[in-house]
Amino acid sequence: MSGQGFTVTGVSKTYEGSGLVQALDGIDLTVGEGEFVVLLGRSGCGKSTLLEIMAGLQTPTSGTVRLGDREITAPDERIGVVFQDPSLYPWRTVGRNVELGLELAGVPKARRRAVAQEHLELVGLPDVGNKYPRQLSGGMRQRVGIARALATRPDVLLMDEPFGAVDHLTRLQLQRDLLRLQAEDTRTVVFVTHDVAEAIVLADRIVLLTPGPGRIARTWDVSRPRPRTLGDPELTVLREEIYAHLEDRERQPR
Ligand code: ADP
Ligand code: MG
Repeated sequence: MSGQGFTVTGVSKTYEGSGLVQALDGIDLTVGEGEFVVLLGRSGCGKSTLLEIMAGLQTPTSGTVRLGDREITAPDERIGVVFQDPSLYPWRTVGRNVELGLELAGVPKARRRAVAQEHLELVGLPDVGNKYPRQLSGGMRQRVGIARALATRPDVLLMDEPFGAVDHLTRLQLQRDLLRLQAEDTRTVVFVTHDVAEAIVLADRIVLLTPGPGRIARTWDVSRPRPRTLGDPELTVLREEIYAHLEDRERQPR
């Protein structure tokens, strides 16, 4: 199946409010099946806007997004989305939060239960199904959000700064877990972050966005084997290169 790659073609987005804000200008991007692409950039450069357009949650002002041979114009069952805030329903147990997408898809109760439990185990939380979200730590809630996104077995996972609100050590653990999950069934992932180190540890390809309006400034292929450490001399060089590029863009505003 040459199947479930993304093709973003000429996507621009202008928000109309009290004034016009051009968030994205002419974004062209392809994401191959099984590829892990990181969208990197400072806040305000249009990362969330681009991810939401790819998820079918926002409409571009111009341009198109295709997944496989179908255009994305609305949320799609092939796409799972994880945001920085997992926004779990506080009145539902963790298990029933994970079941949510399956419920919407009309999956019978017993099957839903089993699939939810299976995905909680997958993210390292075998014993929390009957707890409530408030009984979990921030890192655990974020895992539940990932389990919920995976439970409907999407082909693609779109993640918007999913580890932005957890402490550093938990974040490193979640990064490792995500890489394991992605390697297990070579799922396509598009991951947004403003953290250069996070991008380097995770990505097959880093796409640097710059603001005013959001454009792709550069991309880097990262072919070092995983698990990666930032002590790897090649990755240190890459990190310096990315920082230099970020600073350079700042000194030469368009
Ligand atoms: P990032 O995720 O990289 O921080 P965003 O996609 O959130 O960037 O925002 C890109 C630009 O679009 C910013 O200038 C932001 O203020 C603007 N923007 C985002 N969402 C809206 C909105 N709903 N209405 C108006 N402007 C918006
Ligand atoms: Mg954002």
